[in-house]
Amino acid sequence: MVLLQSLDALTQWQASMGWHEKVTGFVPTMGALHEGHASLIRLAKSQSELVVVSILVNPTQFNDAQDFETYPRTLEGDMDKAQAAGADAVFAPSAEALYGGKPQATAVHWGPLTHAYEGARRPGHFDGVVAVVDLLFQAVHPTLAVFGEKDLQQVGVIEKLAKDRHPGLKVVVAPLVREPSGLAMSSRNARLSTQGGSSALALHQALLAVQRGAMDGDVDRAVRAQREALRANPAVTLEYLDVLDALTFVPWSGGGQEARPYVVVAAEVEGVRLIDNMPLKA
Ligand code: AMP
Repeated sequence: MVLLQSLDALTQWQASMGWHEKVTGFVPTMGALHEGHASLIRLAKSQSELVVVSILVNPTQFNDAQDFETYPRTLEGDMDKAQAAGADAVFAPSAEALYGGKPQATAVHWGPLTHAYEGARRPGHFDGVVAVVDLLFQAVHPTLAVFGEKDLQQVGVIEKLAKDRHPGLKVVVAPLVREPSGLAMSSRNARLSTQGGSSALALHQALLAVQRGAMDGDVDRAVRAQREALRANPAVTLEYLDVLDALTFVPWSGGGQEARPYVVVAAEVEGVRLIDNMPLKA
């Protein structure tokens, strides 16, 4: 596996490998790779001949400067994990090289998809996601790109980006990977203490309870009860717990043949912002 740290190095490697004549897979990440990322790389490899994993802590998608500065950066370990999962190359340019100067993002307005939930809580976040993924798609030019359902709203945003600006590209969605405890894997979990990791399980439990409520036919009551439980939990600062249609990111309260209802949650534990979601089997 090779490490490519500039656009030129990427272009040269791609030419030497016959990239544009092959079925190629791409997995964009911000590094601090864990088993969730590895599952995406393995899925990409199972559907393509060559796989590039990008690693870039993208400044334009952070609305919190401290979150950006303290985001874990572990390139050496990431290289081993990417290789073990089947990557052929890691593309890790500087932000300045990828953006061709000072990293900047154009505002994107795609209704609730970019402005509800994560978009409302993290103003400008999806502007940065769209900016960096658009540039990465242009640079890497893959046949398919894999994204994790862990970032459910991001999946919707990327599907629209691909449809509008990269029509030949296939977006593949990979399931959310959890710790054996049930905690959704996240690079930010590294910032939690052991106690914080245990406290964070309350989010997973709330999602399970809402999923059960949906199966029992009273999803609204389950949502209200779980919101109350999380608000009463001193270790958790709840941002939102809601049921929505993953196609539109509009709240869902039943019905609609096409709808893809999910329960979603965002909360802080020990000052670490965590998100999680689960499909509702209605
Ligand atoms: P990140 O490095 O956090 O930007 O994530 C890079 C990609 O990995 C995104 O498509 C994420 O949705 C995905 N990902 C992160 N955590 C998980 C997880 N626990 N399960 C599945 N995919 C994940």
